[in-house]
Formats: sequence, C-alpha cells, structure tokens
Amino acid sequence: MRINISRKKIKSSFVGKVEEISGQNLLACYQCGKCSAGCPAVSEMDILPNQIIRYAQLGFKDELLQSKSIWICASCFTCNARCPKGINIAEVIEAIRQILLRKREDHLKIEELSDSEKEDVPPIAMVSSMRKFTS
Ligand code: SF4
Ligand code: SF4
Repeated sequence: MRINISRKKIKSSFVGKVEEISGQNLLACYQCGKCSAGCPAVSEMDILPNQIIRYAQLGFKDELLQSKSIWICASCFTCNARCPKGINIAEVIEAIRQILLRKREDHLKIEELSDSEKEDVPPIAMVSSMRKFTS
C-alpha cells in the first residue's frame, strides 16, 4: 500500500475528532508495540493496534475508516492495560468506529443478508446492529 504523509493530513479535523471522541492524546504513543503484542485479535487484523495509533496521528483517515481491524477489535481492553503511556487504544478504535457510524455507515448491511445467514447470526448481534441506527 502506498502511504503519503502530509502536513495537511496531520492537521486535519479527523485527527482532532479521534482525539476528542476518544479523550486520548495520540502523540503520547512512542510505538513500543506492547498493545499489538498482547492483542488476542491481532491475527485477523489488517492494521495492528500500534499502527492504528500511528495512522491516527498521521491523519490516515481513509485507511482507518476502510480497515477491517476497527470491526475485529473486541474491546477487551488488553491493549489499554499494557500501554506504558496510559493510552486507551480501545477508545481510539471505538472513536474511529463512531466516526463511521455517525455517518450511518456500517460494515454490516442487514438487508443484504440472506435468510439463512440471518438464521445463523446471534440475536444479540442483530439487536446491537439495529440499535446503532436509533440515536
Ligand atoms: S502500547 Fe501504547 S505506547 Fe506502545 S505502541 Fe501501543 S499505544 Fe503506543
Ligand atoms: S481492545 Fe481491541 S485492539 Fe485492544 S487488545 Fe482487545 S481486541 Fe486488541
């Protein structure tokens, strides 16, 4: 993947919004990697937790909003507990999901599921998915 770093991206409103929603100081991260080393979901992720923080610092909005990782994260908070800088990585990931959900964008489109797929989805997942659209 080609990565373009620019002052414009770093100063973008996306970076400020992630910090505002998450309540975290992204620049506190010094990329030690302890968050990713302890994450139980990392094998399924396309961008690792420490990379998510780096991308957020640099304003890589599109890469983050399109990443699989923000939906794979189980909000288990292992990364939060391991971070030597006290950064709540799970909240940063939640903030990125929120930015998408507030635009009424979701990774799952219930109306596109077949009847047999709907039968396999746990009811709580269906309820949870629909609740995102009631605020
Ligand atoms: S553990 Fe904390 S400081 Fe280390 S890479 Fe992850 S977010 Fe950054
Ligand atoms: S909260 Fe998410 S990113 Fe952090 S360790 Fe758990 S699954 Fe991984």
